[in-house]
Order: sequence, then structure tokens, then C-alpha cells
Amino acid sequence: MTERLRIALQKKGRLAEDSFSLLKKCGLKFSIRSGGLLARVKNLPVDLLLLRDDDIPTFVATGAADVGIVGENVLVEEQLSSPSKLDADIDIRLGFSRCRLCLAAPSGGIIKSPGDLNGTRIATTYPGVLGRYLSKNNITAKAVEMKGAVELAPSIGIADSICDLVSSGATLEANGLAAFVSILDSEAVLISSSRALSPQQSEIYHKLCSRIDGVLKSAETKYIMLNAPVEKLDEITALLPGSDSPTIIPLAGTEKLVAIQAVCTENIFWETLEDLKALGARAILVLPIEKMMS
Ligand code: ATP
Ligand code: ZN
Repeated sequence: MTERLRIALQKKGRLAEDSFSLLKKCGLKFSIRSGGLLARVKNLPVDLLLLRDDDIPTFVATGAADVGIVGENVLVEEQLSSPSKLDADIDIRLGFSRCRLCLAAPSGGIIKSPGDLNGTRIATTYPGVLGRYLSKNNITAKAVEMKGAVELAPSIGIADSICDLVSSGATLEANGLAAFVSILDSEAVLISSSRALSPQQSEIYHKLCSRIDGVLKSAETKYIMLNAPVEKLDEITALLPGSDSPTIIPLAGTEKLVAIQAVCTENIFWETLEDLKALGARAILVLPIEKMMS
């Protein structure tokens, strides 16, 4: 049994850069050569397998890789279209490459809602997810399976609508299409199989998961510092989002003001800062947190 942990990643595309960057933030040192299929991590016993995203769930399920990073959309599609149960499941949702699998039809046309799909043709590269949606909603429509360029299908007359990934909607709009329902929300996910890892691989994987957790938490967590009038202390600390027990420090030369410092585990919006200021808080600083471990 190999002792190095093999992580399957997308070689090139919309998941690749953010996947590399997440692993780098976790302290893994590696360089990606163009055309390379394997990158060795220099400071940990980890190998990166560089693949097409569609192959990642199967690599993980068959044991050709131990774990992988892939879009949830691709994982679910492979799970639904695989002839036997695919042994690959989500360990951590990673929060990047967010997109939705949507049904879309020509703007101003006759298809405006799922109920209009009966007896029509829908072009897609996601026959599994589309099929599940259609049967759950008792819709009888024909899935036209394509390998790509799905958004062109209605204009060239091979389908009446499409089922495709959407993030901003700009591609749909450019092709005269409008989304009318979303059938799957997706983001990048870390996946593994139920197969046991060797003790060393398992130790590395645990370490990696805990570092990923730390990276994801620190992305949302901020350190806030401010000066506050003593009589508004309770109201001000109640406004600090997701902070347990802030540190209160006396300030030199005054008994009316104190300094407050706190770790906020939720986003601090401009509105919160404005509310703090209205309560008399001054010198408000919000700082990013680079690493966290609890
Ligand atoms: P490959 O050559 O690896 O097969 P691909 O062309 O199938 O690549 P990409 O376009 O790179 O795939 O998209 C990879 C994944 O990124 C998608 O499966 C989805 O999870 C996510 N994704 C797709 N479109 C977007 C988008 N517009 N914004 C963010 N993430 C997206
Ligand atoms: Zn792909």
C-alpha cells in the first residue's frame, strides 16, 4: 500500500487555480508544470494527480487516487449515472467555484416554467441530474445529451431548452436564453471513498482536513478593535457578530472609555460598523486573520 496521500485535482479549468491555492494556504509546497500529470509535494508525503474534472470521482472511487477536489455537480452526475454505486462522498464543502445547474429557454419563447417542458427536448451534459429532476417532478421530456456548447442547442434547432451550469448568467444572455429554474446548487467539494487509508495516509489526511477547516474559518473570521464609552459596553459587545467573550482593556488617561478586542466568526458588514459608531465606538479597526486552529 502506497504511503503517500494521492489527491486528484483538476489540471486546468475553473476549479484548478482555487484548488491549488487552497492547498498552498494549507502549507503544501509544490509547483505545477504545464503538461505534467503528477506533482510531488515537497514538504509532505503527498502527490497531486492532475486530471480532467470528470475523471476525479471515478479515480477516487476506484482507489487510483485517495481523495479529490471536484465540483459537486460533477460528483452528483457521476453518482447518478454510474452503473454501480460510486464509492465517493463529500468530506468538506470548500466554498469556491459556486454555480447552479439551471434549466433555461429562449427569452420570450413558449417555455417559461418547468410545466412547459412536457413533450419538449432539453440539451444537457448532465443527463443524470436532469433525469432525476424530471422524474421527481413528473415531467416527460427528452434529454438530448451533448459533450459541450449546450447553449447553442436551441438556436441550431436540436433542442427547445437547455440544462446547464450558470454562475453570472452572462453566457445565457449572450445566447438569448433565460434561466427559469435552478435544479442543483454546486460548489467545490473535497471527496474521499470509504476505503481505509494506511495509518500514515490517514494521519496526513486528518492534518490536511484540519488545515482546510482552519483556512475556511479564517477566511470569514476577522479581528475587531475599537474604543467604546463604558456606559455603552453591553450594547456594543452585543453587536459584534459571532464573538464569545471580547477582551476589555482600560485606556490610559480616561475612565469613560475602554478598548474592546474580539474575534468575530461571522462577516462584519459596513452596516455593523455604522451601528457601532452610532453607539459611540471610535477608532474601529477590522483586521484579517491569516491562520486559525482551535
Ligand atoms: P475539464 O477539461 O477538466 O473537463 P471542464 O471544461 O469540464 O474542464 P470547467 O469549465 O473548468 O470544466 O469547470 C469545472 C467546474 O467548475 C464545473 O464542473 C463547476 O463545478 C465549476 N464551474 C463551472 N462554471 C463555473 C463558473 N461559471 N464559475 C465558477 N465555477 C464554475
Ligand atoms: Zn469536465
